[in-house]
Amino acid sequence: MNIEKTWEEALVKIKSTVSALSYELWVNSLSPIYFKNGTFFLSTTSATAKTTIKNILLTSIKNALKSVSEEIKDVDIVDVNEEEEFFKQQAIEEEKQQQTVQLYNFKKEYTFDNFVVGNSNKYVYAACRSVAENPCKSINPLFIYGGSGLGKTHLLNAIGNYITKNYPELKVQYVTCEKFTNDYIDSLKTGNSGDYKNKFREKYRSLDVLMIDDIQFIAKKTGTQEEFFHTFNELYENNKQIIIASDRPPREIATLEERLVSRFSMGLIQDIQFPDIETRTAILQKKVEEENYKVDNTVINYLAECYDVNIRELEGLLKKVHFFATLNNKIANVSDLNEALKDHSVSTKQVVTPDVIMDAVCKYYNINKLDLIGKKKNKEIVEPRQICMYIIFEVLGLPLVSIGQLFGGRDHTTVIHAKDKVSQLMQENNRIKVAVNDIKVMATQNRI
Ligand code: ADP
Ligand code: MG
Repeated sequence: MNIEKTWEEALVKIKSTVSALSYELWVNSLSPIYFKNGTFFLSTTSATAKTTIKNILLTSIKNALKSVSEEIKDVDIVDVNEEEEFFKQQAIEEEKQQQTVQLYNFKKEYTFDNFVVGNSNKYVYAACRSVAENPCKSINPLFIYGGSGLGKTHLLNAIGNYITKNYPELKVQYVTCEKFTNDYIDSLKTGNSGDYKNKFREKYRSLDVLMIDDIQFIAKKTGTQEEFFHTFNELYENNKQIIIASDRPPREIATLEERLVSRFSMGLIQDIQFPDIETRTAILQKKVEEENYKVDNTVINYLAECYDVNIRELEGLLKKVHFFATLNNKIANVSDLNEALKDHSVSTKQVVTPDVIMDAVCKYYNINKLDLIGKKKNKEIVEPRQICMYIIFEVLGLPLVSIGQLFGGRDHTTVIHAKDKVSQLMQENNRIKVAVNDIKVMATQNRI
């Protein structure tokens, strides 16, 4: 609200309802200073003026202001000597409000109650539950990891919902690694005072429970790692709860500083695995109940058995079948499913061929295929070439001679050498291990 403009408009109305003398003496002494929560604050020149205005003019002033803006519900007068204290108080309240606004609102739909527990996730569920029930007192830090779409963010929100409900006095914050990084970068921007940096620190270091999602994105961000390290230490030393989620274990986050790896290992590192058919079925059943999806049991069973995909994707497919059913005004059964999902082959996993693996390697290393299978001997090409041979052997189990042929007619002993070399490197060098894993995922999950 533009308080000056609002006040100007109100003055016109007030003028026509009060005596000229009152207007001259008292109304003229007022100036608008603040608007909050429906109350319009005016300041006057003395305590006497304040008392008089409140006694004889407040109703006229209030009515005039109300008629200018529907937002205004009340009016209050401050005298000039009280102004300083008034603004101090407002600043404190605004600050408080900002802090609460900044705290994350947990997604209400992600709770422990609607998290289906099966063999693939029972340990991680138990760990999260234990932390939620006894924050700061059971496992610290808790590090959970697992592939995309397997329920990590769901579990973090479930912990958040549980703690905010049962321990309302605790300050709980969820951030993605990206948000943490951006907050940190903001705190460094020139133009932002040292105060801003302190605020950032205060925000993160005054928490009782800090959850960071997708921490793998901290790789390579040295400054953010440094800041996170200090945040971690401060919270940990003060016995505050830290929960971290990642798509891979700490050791496999390339360029994660050793001291952070060792910090993460001080509590519990627990993985979530890919769900088995029973768990997938149960999750789909729960979803159908919750959302009232128009599909019958044959759809659930078929999806759980034949679509070997993560839970997020599985839910997406189910939703698609439901839409199809709604459009056709029926309950979908398994024969509708094929029609509804005709763009998705029975398994959305792509058929892996040597070509697909080669493409994945080329994309990962940003090299071209002719070089990959060609004669060049520089390290930038030899390493990807050997990794490619290794993965083709590992994933497809092709005869060594055939693999040699794929790479410009090389001898099978070259393939054996490559394969042994990569196995050995994977044990010694985390970067290679991560690369091999990532390329395998790219190739098998259609991410090229
Ligand atoms: P991640 O963070 O691991 O990538 P999410 O937590 O975002 O995965 O989960 C993806 C979707 O799958 C969400 O809608 C989530 O509710 C659902 N989901 C995952 N695991 C379960 C489970 N065990 N029970 C019920 N829903 C689940
Ligand atoms: Mg997630």
